[in-house]
Formats: sequence, structure tokens, C-alpha cells
Amino acid sequence: MKPVAPLLTLIAGLSGSAALASPGPVALAPTPPIAAPRDIPYPGVISLAADASDTDHRIVRVTEIIPVKGGGDVVLLYPEWLPGTHAPEGTIDRLAGLKFAHDGVPLTWTRDVANVFAFHVAVPAGAKAIDVQFDYLSPVGEKQGPTEITSTIATLEWNSLALYPAGYYARQIPIDVSLTLPAGWTFASALETARTDGAVTAFKPTTFETLIDSPVYAGPHMARFDLDAPGDAPVRLNVFADKASELVVKPEQLAATKALVQQAYRLYGSHHYDHYDFLLSVSDLTAPQGLEHHRSSEDGVSAGYFADYDKAAADRTLLPHEYTHSWNGKFRRPADLWTPNYNVRMRDSLLWVYEGMTEYWGEVLSARAGLRTPEQERESLALIMATYDAVPGRVWRPLQDTTNDEIINPRRPMSWPTWQRFEDYYDEGALIWLDADTLIREKSGGAKSLDDFARTFLGIDNGDYTPVTYTFEDVAKGLNAVWPHDWAAFLRERLDSVGKGAPLDGLKRSGYRLVYNDTPNVILKSVEGDGRGEGFDKTRDFTFSLGLVVAKEGLLRRVQWDGPAFKAGLTAGMRIIAVNGLPYDDDALAEAILAAEKTATPTELIVKTADRFKVVKVDWHGGPRYPHLERDPALPDRLDAILAARN
Ligand SMILES: [Zn+2]
Repeated sequence: MKPVAPLLTLIAGLSGSAALASPGPVALAPTPPIAAPRDIPYPGVISLAADASDTDHRIVRVTEIIPVKGGGDVVLLYPEWLPGTHAPEGTIDRLAGLKFAHDGVPLTWTRDVANVFAFHVAVPAGAKAIDVQFDYLSPVGEKQGPTEITSTIATLEWNSLALYPAGYYARQIPIDVSLTLPAGWTFASALETARTDGAVTAFKPTTFETLIDSPVYAGPHMARFDLDAPGDAPVRLNVFADKASELVVKPEQLAATKALVQQAYRLYGSHHYDHYDFLLSVSDLTAPQGLEHHRSSEDGVSAGYFADYDKAAADRTLLPHEYTHSWNGKFRRPADLWTPNYNVRMRDSLLWVYEGMTEYWGEVLSARAGLRTPEQERESLALIMATYDAVPGRVWRPLQDTTNDEIINPRRPMSWPTWQRFEDYYDEGALIWLDADTLIREKSGGAKSLDDFARTFLGIDNGDYTPVTYTFEDVAKGLNAVWPHDWAAFLRERLDSVGKGAPLDGLKRSGYRLVYNDTPNVILKSVEGDGRGEGFDKTRDFTFSLGLVVAKEGLLRRVQWDGPAFKAGLTAGMRIIAVNGLPYDDDALAEAILAAEKTATPTELIVKTADRFKVVKVDWHGGPRYPHLERDPALPDRLDAILAARN
């Protein structure tokens, strides 16, 4: 190639060359940063009053008095990076009616031009405190987000209901909080009550950090169950439902939930709370939920969780999962994920520990506690293994990269999730921990297991809930202390490699094989019937045969990348109108799969796309196909040992 300089010289020499009259814009200096949080006491106590009594409009009205020191530019923040979601999912779009005042005189405010979660308030010299008012507009329909407030349940998260001063660690900001609820409602929270006066409850003084970690669930229909014998750290199950009949917990259901607490204590040998409250909403109106806190968890399940117990088997790991987070996630926390306040960027590189190991213990504890039968638990593991074994996106995207998913996409529906991959660090992460568990058991002849890691890594500092952070190296070191092995290489291999097929070494070592046959998987059946899977309606799942999931009235909910349905030209969002010439009904695809098994004739579908009808032919002749675990008698049944209740 010729050097360019002579050409440039030539062009520059041309008169009237407008194109090169200017080299182009120069970047402005960045907007001055918001004050970084410092680990020093905030001078003064914030008081916050939230009024959640307007359930008709689903609005919470918030007033705050925020002490200030002198005047000038005071910067207040609305939480952006939320613990548990690990992402910038703060609900700033729902804040309205914002007003600031001093001694009754309105103050002007501007939003920071570079940070929409930060508000600058012009405070007069000598002011000691400012008054803040705003409305939190919770969703009024699915399109605005998951429902939080109905006429029977309110799920209130304080990160949506508070502005706080920039420049301080959240644990250094004292706050007094009160809450108004509709008349006749009761509530539960990890917050401790100072006094209740009619509809208004004042909580004991706390810190901004503990407030954000302590949501409130409330409603007119509530039942509370003690899950542990009276002792130093009560554990309570607080159930909220749309009707009283959903609050009935049968003795054996309560016994299994109590056993969860005891099995967790035997596993971890500790607890990291002074009291713990499960906040369980049983409702088809509020959103399915699972959000962990140190001393409570938000657990949202469909109606029928107790009333139709066996059908809800898919939901049965929720409580063990969120409870485990009190140890793994809240107390032991990745060093790059912990932040001093809610407007500092989180980094999610260790979510395969935070969520992956929690998934693993959630599965294991549900079996140990008797929340699931061993058979249900094996079906659950089979479904996880088959699902990730069939994820084609594994050929291009390593598991480690999926730890960014909550930031890339805060759970919006995806076009091709099996090709894109989505939050696979949960369940594929769990498979890594089964792999590690069975390896330790095999090498140690059963003398050691991942239980030892749970106790030595998560179980330290009994009673304390000040987070203790860790790095990747700490995890490898902790595993090495249980059983010497090149754990760093073991983990990196499973996190960084790409290729077909989930890591199933742990299954093999546990004495089982993944097999497929025409018997429906019981956990998949539970997911199908739940009605709140993908898209909130009942589905029929043909992932392992036709390669599709169909919702009501033939709407294609998901098409497996590169599966038979994909190859036939089907895409999520299309609607099946007819199957082999007959109008579509709920059983049509299952019958067509059986019919095609005996012939070479493809199944013919008429589908409606956005703007036309088309005929497609799906070539699948393998019959109905569902995953299960089959015992391999050549190896010891290590899975049975893992799932057995501990004495
Ligand atoms: Zn979790």
C-alpha cells in the first residue's frame, strides 16, 4: 500500500475543501462524578414514612426527612444496582411526583445528566434537613413489570421506596422507618417492630443496608408458622394468599418445611441471622419470585402450592434455594459482587458459586428435608442435565460468560434462548458442584464430601451476618482444604471450555445414567401445569422430541435451536392452527408424535405467522421423549448418599 501522507497533503492543498475544514468534534470533559461512598458515619438519622394503603392505584407514597450539613449541592441517590438481581434493575422509571422542600419552601432539583439515578438538590445555607416526597408507581399491568400490589397482597421492597445520600457506605446511614398499610392487613418482615398504632407500624431504628435487605410482605390473609423450637434464632414461615383456603398447611407439609431448617443446620453447622422469615406469597396474581436476603427471603409461588402439593413439585426447591442464600450469597459473597452502596457497579464473575452452588444445595436440601421424594429429586436432576446437555449455545459460549446475563438482559423474553444461552450459571453451575461432590466422595472413599466444604466455607462465624467476601482463589483453596486436587484447573476447565454436551461426569460418578423414554418427567409435568412458566400460561413441553414448547391455543413459546421444529421453519410467536389436517387442540401434538413414530411421514402443521399462513413438515419419528435417571449398578449409589437426610 502507498503511504497516505502525500495524498492528504494534496487534498489539504485544495481550496474550499469543506470536508477537512475541521478535524471533527472534541470530546467534552466527563460530567463530574457523584461522590464515592466512604466508610464514615452519616451525620444524622433519616426518617422515612411509606404509605402503601392505596392498593386501588397500586401506589406507595413516600416522605423522607433527610438531615443535611450546611447548604449547597446535595446529591441523593435512588438505588440502581440491586443485591440478589446482581444488575442495574433499580425501578427509577416508576418514581414520580418528586418534590424537595426546606421549612415548607420548595427547593429546585435537577437530575444528574450522566447518572439518571442521582438528583442534585440546591439546599440553602444553614439548612439542617430537607423534606422529600415522591410516589412509587408499582406496575398496573404485565407490560409494566411483575405485579407487586393487589387487593390481597403487597410485596414491598425498600429499594423502590427510598432516596439516600451519596458519599456514604449504606451500613453507615441510620434510618427510622414507618409503614402504613390498608386497614385490617397484617405483615411480615425481617425488620423489627417498635410499635403499631392502627394501620401505621414504626420499625426499630436500623441502617440503610439492613432496610434494603428487609422487604415487607403484607395482606389480609396471612398465616405464620414457627419452623424451629424456641431458641436463640427463630425461623418463621409467613404465608400470604389471595384467599384463606390457600393458607392451609397440612402437618406433613409443615414437617418437611421444618426439616429444611434442621437439615440446613446439619449441613452448614451454623446460621447467619438472629431471626429468619420466609415471606411466601401463594397467588396467581402477584409475580413468581425468589429473592434472597440475610434474614428473610421473598418466595412467590402459584396458587395450589400447599392445596395441590404434588403438582407443585417443581416449585419445591424455591425455599431451600433462597434459604441457602443466607449462607451462600448474603453471608459469603463474591468480593467483586459486594458493593458499599446501591449505586456502585457490581461484577458478577462468581455467580456460578453464588447461584450455581445454591441451586445444588437447593436440590439436595429439598430431598434431605422431604420436600421432594428421592424419585422427584432424581427427575429434577434428570431434567436439568437433559436441558443443559441439549443447549446448542454451549458450542460458542462458555459458562463463565453467562454470568453477565442479568446485566446484558434483565430477564426480557429472548428470541432464541437455547442458542444465546441465558443464566446457565444457575443449573449448569449446579452440575459443576455435583461433579466436585462426587469427585471428593470417590477420591476419599466416602470419608469426605461437599458437605465438608459447605461447613468450612459457608458455615464460619456462626450467628454473624456481616458479609465475608471471597475470590476464585479462595474457592479453590477451600476445596483443597477438604480434599487435595487441582481444583483451580478443574473449575476453569468447566467454566471456560466450549463444546457440545453438559458436564455429566458427576452423574456418572454418582452411579446413574441419563436416559430418555416415553414416560413423562414428573418435574417437567409440574412445570407445564404451573401456568406461570415462560409467558405465564400453561405449556406442553416437547423440547426433547419435536424441539418446541407450545402454550395455550397453539402459540409457540420456544423453539429449540437447530431441532426438528427449527429445521422445519418454526419460530417462537407463530401459532399452530392445524396438525395433520385437523384443527389444533391441546393433545394434537402428542397424538401426532405417536402417529409419526410408526411411519416415515413427517407431521404436517399449518401455522400462522405474523402476516400469513404456511404449511410446515416436522421430521421427527423418535416418539415421545422425556429424560430420566437410570441406575448404573456397576458403581456405588453416591446420589442416594448425597440426597439422604443427615442425622
Ligand atoms: Zn438464587
